[in-house]
Amino acid sequence: MKKTVKDVNWAGKTAVMRCDFNVPLKDGKITDDTRIRAALPTINYLIDDGAAIVIMSHLGRPKGKAVPEMSLAPVAKRLSEYLGKEVKLVASDVVVDDTVKAAAKALKGGEVMLIENVRYRAEEEKNDPEFARELSELGDIFVQEAFGTSHRAHASTTGIADYIPAVSGFLIEKELKFLGEAVNDPERPFAAIMGGAKVKDKISVITSLLNKVDILIIGGGMAYTFFKAQGYSIGKSLLDEEGIGLASDILKLAEEKGVKFLLPVDVVASYDFANDSPYDVYPVDSIPDDRMGMDIGPATIKLFSDTLKTAKTVVWNGPVGVFEMENFAVGTKAVAECLAELDATTVIGGGDSAAAVTQFGLADKMTHISTGGGASLEFLEGKELPGIAIIEDK
Ligand code: ADP
Ligand code: MG
Repeated sequence: MKKTVKDVNWAGKTAVMRCDFNVPLKDGKITDDTRIRAALPTINYLIDDGAAIVIMSHLGRPKGKAVPEMSLAPVAKRLSEYLGKEVKLVASDVVVDDTVKAAAKALKGGEVMLIENVRYRAEEEKNDPEFARELSELGDIFVQEAFGTSHRAHASTTGIADYIPAVSGFLIEKELKFLGEAVNDPERPFAAIMGGAKVKDKISVITSLLNKVDILIIGGGMAYTFFKAQGYSIGKSLLDEEGIGLASDILKLAEEKGVKFLLPVDVVASYDFANDSPYDVYPVDSIPDDRMGMDIGPATIKLFSDTLKTAKTVVWNGPVGVFEMENFAVGTKAVAECLAELDATTVIGGGDSAAAVTQFGLADKMTHISTGGGASLEFLEGKELPGIAIIEDK
């Protein structure tokens, strides 16, 4: 078990907290503040327990220099509104300087300040020890609350813990509970659904999942590389050419391991990657050359749903169709509805899968929606995430 903010007596101490406030901005305005709201329980806990709080985050990709459009100023403003107290952005083009250090030192219990986008410094992503030390000088204890970047060893996610003790916030605690239980101690049958478009990234995850799951379901853009490996023609569908060999290996391995491995049996295919492109349903062995697979078909929806109904734990990463287009959202919606009704632990990982579930209004019907796409995948693969490894054990 990892230490959390509850394992510290915060009176007289300053927390240096790493949040994921990489929020979407349009014309300087925040278009979705989910990530800010998600951090409020931990911040409020720290305030109530008497901590002074210095918050840091990245935003966008400023590539190691100060870019005013990627300033955290809009975040400071929104956070002030939610907390009902002023959160000052102590801005510096170099993120930490003497003024920033003095402001952190002067902070009293219950006060909150934000420092500028840590990626204004190239040293951040290089996990530069000197920059990590500068960040650590802003407080006494590091609070890790940015799951989405915890698979990267950066100065503000990992390096800082070489200088001060690290504990987790409540978001991280929840990620570790649900993802950890799914990976290490799932109630069985344990099913994983893998879909989406990042075939290259995900095909290796499937190999390690075969050692853990009872049922593995493949959908989305992912499926066509497997169809190709089975010798079917896939028309203009998404293909990871280099992944074909690995897909064959996976098919064999699944059989050896006795994992129930389900691919779509029919697909909805259109001429072009567009919602208004005419479409039809085809069995997977007869996709015409001028078509591309956009969604799973009705027989597949039934097959997947019937199988998922037997599961007690389900991990879902990647939509099973191009859900952003109404005509091709049917399969993804059906899978989301199926999971919503299950009497099982349901964990959603991946940015687009989470967006899909939210779009269908089913987010609160899932056990856990992970805030980290890449991080949740690496976790499922069984890798140790550097930003998690540094959190002290109880
Ligand atoms: P996540 O963010 O959940 O990890 P990915 O980023 O891997 O998922 O993939 C999400 C994208 O996959 C979505 O934009 C969706 O439109 C796309 N997608 C799903 N099915 C297909 C398909 N058959 N062909 C092409 N793209 C697909
Ligand atoms: Mg994605």
